Amino acid sequence: MSSEDFRRHGKALIDWIADYWDTVGDRTILPDVAPGEIRASLPERAPEHGEPFGAVLADLDTVVMPGITHWQAPGWFAYFPANVSFPSILGDLASSGLGQQGMLWQTSPVTTEIESHVLDWLVDLMALPQGWRTTGPGGGVLQMSASDSTHTAIVVARSMRKDTDPSRMVVYASTQAHSSVEKGARVAGIGHVRLVETDHVHAMRTDALATAIDLDVASGLFPVFVCATLGTTATTAVDPIRPIGEIARARGMWFHVDAAYAGNAMICEEFRHHLDGVELADSYTFNPHKWLLTNFDCSVFWVADRGPLIDTMNIVPPYLRNRASDAGDVIDYRDWHVPLGRRFRALKVWFVLRHYGAEGLREYIRSHVKLAQDLADRVERHPRLETVAPTPFGLVSFAHLDGNDATARLVEAINATGTSYVVASTLGERLFVRVSIGSTLTEASHVDAVWQAISGAA
Ligand code: PLP
Repeated sequence: MSSEDFRRHGKALIDWIADYWDTVGDRTILPDVAPGEIRASLPERAPEHGEPFGAVLADLDTVVMPGITHWQAPGWFAYFPANVSFPSILGDLASSGLGQQGMLWQTSPVTTEIESHVLDWLVDLMALPQGWRTTGPGGGVLQMSASDSTHTAIVVARSMRKDTDPSRMVVYASTQAHSSVEKGARVAGIGHVRLVETDHVHAMRTDALATAIDLDVASGLFPVFVCATLGTTATTAVDPIRPIGEIARARGMWFHVDAAYAGNAMICEEFRHHLDGVELADSYTFNPHKWLLTNFDCSVFWVADRGPLIDTMNIVPPYLRNRASDAGDVIDYRDWHVPLGRRFRALKVWFVLRHYGAEGLREYIRSHVKLAQDLADRVERHPRLETVAPTPFGLVSFAHLDGNDATARLVEAINATGTSYVVASTLGERLFVRVSIGSTLTEASHVDAVWQAISGAA
């Protein structure tokens, strides 16, 4: 493809994306396709000869669009949001266009330095410990997902106990923690995972944590890692960070904080009381790709001390040696996670921070939290509905007082609209509806529409 053709097709594609965003609110969120239907529309074999690129782009409408789940619709209230914004799309486009491989500082100085710098900015913007800046003993790195960050933290915790058999190690998190803790422990070959009981607001019970650790020690096991969740997936509950951190410190365990979703809100001062004790954390993760207008994939992983992380990950084959690394003057991000190759993810974060400014991002988060709190009030005032958890951020969790069948009918009524979409979850045996407010285009009218469906069915 010539650069002239690239310009032409590229401009057409930008128009196509902008048209999509202008119309996404009118589309039915879930695609109407049967399993295998999309593949059946594709040729059996890859093309032997190239096709005109116009024909390739045309298939965005005919093949791709019918199979799209409209995550960016303003009525998307399922899971957690997967925010996208135009500045972020442009950042990703520039990253693709530049084709950088930032595994070493040497292979792309700018990929490394902008990443270190914007993550240091975020330390300040979120009032996190100053030592987490790359100018201190710690530092931040971008990973694909919070699961990667948590897995990496577990591997570092494991490797700090070289003389202990991993099958006798124990990892702790609450029953409400994300499954990535269990998966990370499994992949790291850790023998035991304890899911600790939670209290009436679904936060980890620290007395139960301490008891579980004591029992494991008494039976000859080695507690190595505890994860506190700041904003659980089911209900956005917040584990008490300080007492959990104190327990971890007292027992020489690695303390990780999973703030995948709610960590984004820490850009606003009024949510920062949830961070109390965060200076005790050895590592912390949050996902700008959930709620900070930054396209998937983009997960921040901070460590308080980068030494153990680098010791765990660093292997130097001769072809990667270079003067800057040998001199120890630079960050080589390949030593901060499992993959070697890495793209210029920080470019989109940089674009987003510069386009919106911290104040724009604060307004954005606050607008969603306000919409969520208004919806929670409406639920509470309704005679047949009740919230099943507090609403500290953008998620409203509620159920019908008549039980699970009635709650399931609420979910069906919302999703039958086609333009609003939610998923349910359970607490014990109790089914509840999650309305997760945080999509880029969501405004009060979209929350009003979902409330109409709820109140109509309640
Ligand atoms: N941790 C929490 C609290 C989450 O809610 C999620 C996903 O929703 C994850 C971790 C996993 O995030 P990722 O998809 O980035 O691995």
